[in-house]
This record gives sequence, structure tokens and C-alpha cells, in this order.
Amino acid sequence: MGLLRKIRETGRVAEAAPPAPAGDVLASAREFGGSVQVRCVDAGSCNGCEIEIAGAFNPVYDAERYGARLVASPRHADVALVTGPVTRNMAEPLRRTVAAMGEPRLVVAVGDCALSCGEFAGGYGVEGSVGDVVPVNLEVPGCPPRPEEIVAALRRVTGR
Ligand code: SF4
Repeated sequence: MGLLRKIRETGRVAEAAPPAPAGDVLASAREFGGSVQVRCVDAGSCNGCEIEIAGAFNPVYDAERYGARLVASPRHADVALVTGPVTRNMAEPLRRTVAAMGEPRLVVAVGDCALSCGEFAGGYGVEGSVGDVVPVNLEVPGCPPRPEEIVAALRRVTGR
């Protein structure tokens, strides 16, 4: 069913809630009380992962209904959503961004490049994977991961 027709017929924009994520809810979810503020950091991505993150927060996939909300400052954030291989120029800004977040905090690496440098492994400007620069709590594989997978990872963090 086309989206506009669906809205006309059902009055709803968002897809029905997908099943609960396969992985366990993180132990830290209890500390966040079912709601997290999320700061995105592009550490050197091709922008493909950003497009899918934007999709995860659009009205169709709607990550906000599970308690995840985007914020503009790491000082307001509980979760850093980091994409891309970490370039040499972004290594220190990434370290500082994570250090600026309060405790408790989590780092979620999104995409194959964040996990293992992916297509850019061995590149002259690449410092390493996200885990080489800051501690990573949760990984979302894929090139790029689908919005459903990003939402599922955030649901593991919020426990909703
Ligand atoms: S994982 Fe794929 S889509 Fe994401 S930054 Fe790397 S190359 Fe781009």
C-alpha cells in the first residue's frame, strides 16, 4: 500500500511497531529510565549511514516512539551514534565529544566502516575503527545498516 493511501485509510504515518529486537536489552537501559538523548558523530562516513540514521528518525520508522531523541550537543547526550572509519582529523574531536558526555554514557558504532573501517581500511587518512579510538558498547553492522536495524539497536538501549 502506498504511504499516502495508507495515511488516508488508516490516519497513521508510522509503520506498525516492529517485533522486539533480537538482542537482549543492555544492562545499562535501567539507568536511562527508558529514554535516551542521542548525539550523532560522523567520524569519516561516506554519508550512506547518515541517510539511514535520518530514516530511522523519520515519521515512518520513528525511533522517538521508543524513547530515543536526537540532540545537538554531546553535553545533552546519553548515547553517541558514531559512523564511518575514524579519520585522522576526526580522532581527537571524537575523543573530546565522548569525554564531554555525562555518565552513564554509551557509544554505538553504526555501519561496517565504524566497526572495521570497511571500504576505507588501509586508507592514508584513516586512523582506525571507532573501537580503536573510544570504547564501543554496541555495534550495528551493515553497509549501510537499515533503519530497522538502527531502531532495534536503540531499543536495546532504551529497553522499549
Ligand atoms: S558502512 Fe557503508 S554506508 Fe556506512 S559509511 Fe561505510 S561505506 Fe558508507
